[in-house]
Amino acid sequence: MIYADNAATTKIDPIALDVMISVLKEQYANPSQPYSFAQEAKKQVEEARATIANCINAYPEEIFFTSGGTESDNWAIKNYGMESLITSSIEHHAILNAAEFVARQGSQVTILPVDKNGYAETNILGELLEKTGAKLVSVMCANNEIGSIQDIKGISNIVHEYDALFHSDAVQAVGHIKVDVKAMGIDMLSASAHKFNGPKGIGFMYIKNGVNKSSFICGGAQENNLRAGTENVASIVGMAVALKNNIQNIDEHQRNISLLETRLIDRLNASKIDFLKNGGDNKLPGNISLSFKGYEGEAILHRLDLKGICVSTGSACDSKRTQISHVIKAIGLDREYAEGTIRISLGKDNTVEEIDYIADSIISIVGV
Ligand code: PLP
Repeated sequence: MIYADNAATTKIDPIALDVMISVLKEQYANPSQPYSFAQEAKKQVEEARATIANCINAYPEEIFFTSGGTESDNWAIKNYGMESLITSSIEHHAILNAAEFVARQGSQVTILPVDKNGYAETNILGELLEKTGAKLVSVMCANNEIGSIQDIKGISNIVHEYDALFHSDAVQAVGHIKVDVKAMGIDMLSASAHKFNGPKGIGFMYIKNGVNKSSFICGGAQENNLRAGTENVASIVGMAVALKNNIQNIDEHQRNISLLETRLIDRLNASKIDFLKNGGDNKLPGNISLSFKGYEGEAILHRLDLKGICVSTGSACDSKRTQISHVIKAIGLDREYAEGTIRISLGKDNTVEEIDYIADSIISIVGV
């Protein structure tokens, strides 16, 4: 089996897994209890918080543990976007569906379009902020389908000129490209452990000191009274280990993955197949969105699956016609290419041999 769907989820870091098993076995106390056995678990949670904060240049008290990217995104939109909100057309559904929810409650939601490479049209952002008086702008750091990396610093500068708050869904970015919340001017950020070789069902929300905080999940006093529920200690600790390990080797991973990506594209180009590579130059290494003229993405996915290769699609068939993803629609791709979109997302464990096999398999499926 060749796993090339790392934007969907990643394999757990073996060191993180070992640490988690030991926490599950040995440190099972509820961190809120006052006795010393529980205080050890509490200490592990706080050490993990400090490690994570350090990885994105935040302060520990600005990190709040959540169940993952979806929850963090919901927290941002539902707590800060209830009045008015601007978000981009290519956000993950965790943002877009939460935006629809707040729109139904009366919030004024405005969609910021993207260009043909998936970059937000920042030239009209100021005008939109002026016109709508939006209180929150949410634009993702990097797109999950085509990998486009936004000019986060440029966007946050504009947002702050209009005294609005800036949230960024950094689920695909954290652990893969350098994220510095202070340098990038981010007020709130969502991240998810399973995208950076941590466990599933755990993530975090960064909320900058000074931003008015309100609780998202009500209950006990955990997470400084903002996110109730007994802490998932093992997963929190595993997430911190995985993130630290990824960030320690981030340059090397990026270099290797970029080389693999170039090798794959060179091989496909040499075969003279009619395809487009989506997204611009500033994109996540290894997030490769390809559109094959005259094919259906889902059919390619199933044929690759038969060859033992896991990828994703940018379109899905239903009984009537192929449904093209909102991201591929937003970049305005011609339908004859759009229907044939797949996403290959490479990770730090992929090898040259695997890339050659993936390229040869694609050529055998869509080649002339
Ligand atoms: N945001 C983006 C950009 C994602 O890619 C994903 C997952 O695919 C999510 C949010 C949701 O994250 P989670 O799976 O942790 O809920």
